[in-house]
Amino acid sequence: MNIYPYCSLLRYNTFGIQVKADLLVEYESVGELKQALALYHERMSEKPLLHIGGGSNLLFIYDFRGMVLHSLVDGYSVIAEEGDDVLVRVGAGMTFDDFVSDSLWRGWFGLENLSGIPGQVGASAVQNVGAYGAEVGNLIETVEGVSLSDGSMHKWRGSECGYAYRQSIFKQELARQYAITYVTYRLHRTFRPSLEYGGVRQAMEQAALTEDSLTAMKLRQVILSIRRHKLPDPAVLGNAGSFFMNPVVTKRKFMSLRSRYPDIPGYMQGANAYKVPAAWLIEQCGWKGRRLNDSPAAVHDVQPLVLVNRGGARGSDILHLCEEIQTDVKKKFGIKLRHEVNIIAYGGEFEEIEP
Ligand SMILES: Cc1cc2nc3c(=O)[nH]c(=O)nc-3n(C[C@H](O)[C@H](O)[C@H](O)COP(=O)(O)OP(=O)(O)OC[C@H]3O[C@@H](n4cnc5c(N)ncnc54)[C@H](O)[C@@H]3O)c2cc1C
Repeated sequence: MNIYPYCSLLRYNTFGIQVKADLLVEYESVGELKQALALYHERMSEKPLLHIGGGSNLLFIYDFRGMVLHSLVDGYSVIAEEGDDVLVRVGAGMTFDDFVSDSLWRGWFGLENLSGIPGQVGASAVQNVGAYGAEVGNLIETVEGVSLSDGSMHKWRGSECGYAYRQSIFKQELARQYAITYVTYRLHRTFRPSLEYGGVRQAMEQAALTEDSLTAMKLRQVILSIRRHKLPDPAVLGNAGSFFMNPVVTKRKFMSLRSRYPDIPGYMQGANAYKVPAAWLIEQCGWKGRRLNDSPAAVHDVQPLVLVNRGGARGSDILHLCEEIQTDVKKKFGIKLRHEVNIIAYGGEFEEIEP
């Protein structure tokens, strides 16, 4: 177990916000996690407790005046084979994309469209990460966790985790109550590529790949190259991926918007709802590539869904920019944009700003 008092969280958040935690504890096993929890309850239970992964979906507004937990539980093992399916149990501290890459090398398919998503395996199950038509919740067999309040161990079936667009019970009714320790994915031995989303087919054509010549590793390379062109690399420009979620509006609302804005894109969600790309709404409000006055917080020039730290931004600069965008989108389209990024503020009391 590594214990770091008054630790900078710069390395632990991809926005590159310079904040500190009163105590950061990294643990390598469930036993060490329980020791860390005992320390917390003995010495600092009046202060807040936060479990982070790779910090690629977090925005810290202040120094975190409590304990931050970080998992180093790594590695994976096959726990069952059922026909075409392979059940693989993975440590929550493993880098998600390392597991995606390993799984494809080993001939376990299903995660290829999720290539290149930053962060850890544990957070994949909290966030229900998704990209290019795939969502990890559809491949999760079980999630294991330890209660932060009493150290008891729990296991949920994937079907009990309430998976929906970037949602799970771990972000809702069980938010901040458990440390996720292991995730078991149900992968397949047969490769069934999903190519209908986000320009995958066009990118394949450009790479002179046909469906017949496609392997899972080649599809991974296609996805990684699309992502490289669209998204800023946090190592170069601080960011947390898509800052906002794509809003879902009623059919009636969508039709009324379409009569005023005939170009508005929308994707049917069931019979009575449409998902509208938040990036389009933000761009229409003139925010693409813009910043507020001289603030280092800016909207990315290529992907307006991404807010970036152009150097030295405070969490409050990014939050201010987020609120200005929300206000403009609400004024122009009557739609409230909800943020996908977890905004963590601590000012006297632990507070997580509601999306
Ligand atoms: C460049 C870039 C591109 C991105 N692209 C995508 C994308 O295509 N699709 C997508 O869905 N997301 C994307 N993201 C967002 C991000 O990668 C995911 O949300 C990811 O799952 C966050 O993982 P993390 O380990 O960094 O978690 P963190 O950001 O550290 O934490 C996220 C949440 O999970 C909780 N948490 C983390 N680990 C644990 C644990 N072990 N136990 C309990 N709670 C835990 C935290 O408390 C927090 O609430 C992108 C981010 C970046 C920077």
